[in-house]
Amino acid sequence: MADLNKKGELMAATILVVEDEPAIQELISYNLQLAGHRVICAETGEQAFTLIKSELPDLVLLDWMLPGASGIDVARKLRANDRTKQVPIIMLTARTDERDKLLGLETGADDYITKPFSPRELVARIKAVLRRRAPQMTDDIVAMGDLRLDPVSRRVTGSGKAIDLGPTEFRLLHFLMTHPGRVHTRAQFLDQIWGDHVFVEERTVDVHIRRLRKALEDSGLEHMIQTVRGAGYRMSAD
Ligand code: CA
Repeated sequence: MADLNKKGELMAATILVVEDEPAIQELISYNLQLAGHRVICAETGEQAFTLIKSELPDLVLLDWMLPGASGIDVARKLRANDRTKQVPIIMLTARTDERDKLLGLETGADDYITKPFSPRELVARIKAVLRRRAPQMTDDIVAMGDLRLDPVSRRVTGSGKAIDLGPTEFRLLHFLMTHPGRVHTRAQFLDQIWGDHVFVEERTVDVHIRRLRKALEDSGLEHMIQTVRGAGYRMSAD
């Protein structure tokens, strides 16, 4: 789950690196950890799926040339599965012609990086993809109506007044504000806020939504968290 790194600047993501060359795998994982991310590594697609069974990563960095199933096969399989279809994918390719070929293929990857790449480029591309695909993972200030949330200082204000939130309500609000207007089921909230494969009952979500609404009452913004009957919850400025 999202967390602050040592410097308190970036939201850390759990990144699955699928790369069979040990030197490259090590270089990538060293630099991603330096950037504040958590890294899990696999050498083959098969290994990657085994890891994913116990933990859903926030992003997959996937090499094109792998022993066994190719990176393209792995990307397609990730996209075809309900549990993994939303996970952002960045493909690594060895040559620009592989990259060109990839661009023409329907793999579902979010971005492509050609080897050799600089660690700085890699970290920047990951941040860009996370910002686009999983905005709750980044450190951007988010605003909706009169509500403002700063992930770095962990401060929330409503109509200019400070709002005190517990850590779960904070993550819940950050997730809602970065997905305005979208309806999320209780199961989706559990995956996103509590983490995949954590056993928490669905009504726990209702408890925290209630606390969040209560905290927004002072600034008169509790109406922004809306119940969608039979579906879940949504956040909207109207
Ligand atoms: Ca390879």
